[in-house]
Amino acid sequence: MTRIRTNTATTQGIVVGTAYVVRHPEPEGEPHVADSATDALSERTRFERALARAAEQLGELIGRSDVFSAHLAIAEDPMLRESVETKIEEGMTAERAVESSCAEISGMMEQLEDEYLRERATDVRDVCTRIRQALRGTEAANPFANLGPEAIVVADELTPSDTAMMDFSRIVGFVTRGGSTTSHVCIIARNQCVLAMVGVGDDIARIETGDRLILDGIRGEILIDPDPATEEHYRRRAREIETERLRLMDFGRLRAVTTDGRPVAVFANVANTDEVRTAIDAGADGIGLYRSEFLYMLHPDDYPDEQTQFEAYRAAAELCGERSLIIRTLDIGGDKALPYMHAPREENPFLGWRAVRISLSMPELFEAQIRALLRASAYGNVKIMFPMITSLDEFRRAREVVERCKAALGREGIAFNPAIETGIMVETPAAVLTADLLAAEADFFSIGTNDLTQYVMAADRTNPRVSHLYDTFNLSVLRSIRSVIDAGAEAGREVGMCGEFASDPLGTRLLLGLGLQEFSVNIGVIGSIKACILRQSYAACREFAARVLEAATEERIHALIAEEDREGTE
Ligand code: PEP
Ligand code: MG
Repeated sequence: MTRIRTNTATTQGIVVGTAYVVRHPEPEGEPHVADSATDALSERTRFERALARAAEQLGELIGRSDVFSAHLAIAEDPMLRESVETKIEEGMTAERAVESSCAEISGMMEQLEDEYLRERATDVRDVCTRIRQALRGTEAANPFANLGPEAIVVADELTPSDTAMMDFSRIVGFVTRGGSTTSHVCIIARNQCVLAMVGVGDDIARIETGDRLILDGIRGEILIDPDPATEEHYRRRAREIETERLRLMDFGRLRAVTTDGRPVAVFANVANTDEVRTAIDAGADGIGLYRSEFLYMLHPDDYPDEQTQFEAYRAAAELCGERSLIIRTLDIGGDKALPYMHAPREENPFLGWRAVRISLSMPELFEAQIRALLRASAYGNVKIMFPMITSLDEFRRAREVVERCKAALGREGIAFNPAIETGIMVETPAAVLTADLLAAEADFFSIGTNDLTQYVMAADRTNPRVSHLYDTFNLSVLRSIRSVIDAGAEAGREVGMCGEFASDPLGTRLLLGLGLQEFSVNIGVIGSIKACILRQSYAACREFAARVLEAATEERIHALIAEEDREGTE
């Protein structure tokens, strides 16, 4: 038996299963491509077909962004075609010819004086990647298609798009080399009751497909090929933990009220309409965050159209009835990618073209989503939330799109709720610092501590090397949370929290004390968070929060939290 220690697990659980090691191909590379070909004619035909396919895709994408018309012009440029054809005649395979022409043309452009033309080198590379993908034929087959039961997926990295391909009824755990607990793959794992151990590092290479594995999220250990007695011991512990989890789930049915009578809403975070059903069954008082980007990720080739989105949102609205259903507009970028978007690679994706920035720069795409949301609002209590807002101007621009879509639907005689609420995720320091201005115009706030922590602390949420800095209990993050709650209260706005912090029972007393009245949590902890709230006195929580906010160091804050936790469980 081999033992690997790791300090990052998504839940305090234990699972036993069989390893399934997945190796992703290099993002830019082909599985294996020969350098030279003997049949130039067939290589040329393959290239012609791939070029036509790429041009067809780009033609369909025009209208979503000006970038795609520029890409189409490159695909149709005789210089690229002639260069590739010459190389094929000289004996190269189509893939190698495209790769080599791409390097030559983009290299040449990078040498140019004109800055604009220099930047077009990236576009050339993008177009060539598209052609190479078309050459490969279809997208890579689903690497998770052959999972056995009780599978533990082991990979260097798993992306949210990977999770969209997975059959979770067969998966009990994830193990990844990189990542940290607020990377999106972990958030999905928690909602699916899958134990993820991330940031394991190079030790991951010791695991092979077929190995029996035990993931112990309590001690932070992975056991490889345990003996039968050890496996039986862990299975017994896993059953005990499950029994306790089911006991706490019963609290989900209750209304959460503190012992001194302050009502608190416990909402759920979901990634799709099926999860809305599970959340309501588990006792969620509403949906505080519907991450709409997963609907986009499920569509492998293209953006879901207005009708497809409308049907998904309407089904969710009908399931929620009068309960709030806060649907967040597309939040792509950062660690979430849409393969068909062909977004250029960025040096700092979390500081780059993501979330509402993308929506505002792709008006047709944004309008399709807003129209779908408005139409669904005729069937339930749908609210629209914009991610990554950094200023009042940005919020107003997003709101203008809503107003434009309302006017169009009105003209078309299509039903929607004219009083639909629009709110924002407060997840950037810029939004925290202007929360008073934003509160004057936004109908509600939801604090996104996952991003807020990384931006306040300047520590990438997916980078295990800086996870010691990525700490939501840090005073600067806590002060940010307090000032947002206060700004919301001052303006009479509802303030919720949909970041992972709301799901952490260690933070519950503190958040109650800071005045939070809407927790939006992972489905699996609805019962335990309600159980925790039901034990608290609001007055005592206020006093506790005041003491924590006076502490100057993280060490002191963690000591206070640990002390309070011990007293709470005695
Ligand atoms: C957040 O940033 O806290 C949040 C809830 O959004 P996401 O995790 O999807 O970025
Ligand atoms: Mg976020």
